[in-house]
Amino acid sequence: MLQLRPNCECCDADLAPESTDAMICSFECTFCRACAETALAGRWPNCGGELVRRPIRPADRLARFPASTERKVKAGGCPAAA
Ligand SMILES: [Zn+2]
Ligand SMILES: [Zn+2]
Repeated sequence: MLQLRPNCECCDADLAPESTDAMICSFECTFCRACAETALAGRWPNCGGELVRRPIRPADRLARFPASTERKVKAGGCPAAA
């Protein structure tokens, strides 16, 4: 099951499970759209992953399959934005 992380790994912005501005790679690295499109230019150096829009999990499924609450942030911040 796709892990719906609660924040951008780059700038720590909150990303709700229903957000259409959440971007994700095949390893489930998760970013806000602003970071994915500008700072990272569609790629995350850690994994070289292609970032695509994260699909929304419908609210009635979230009750049974809740989003992750574990915040994951890159140590030292977003490399490209620095
Ligand atoms: Zn961000
Ligand atoms: Zn990744």
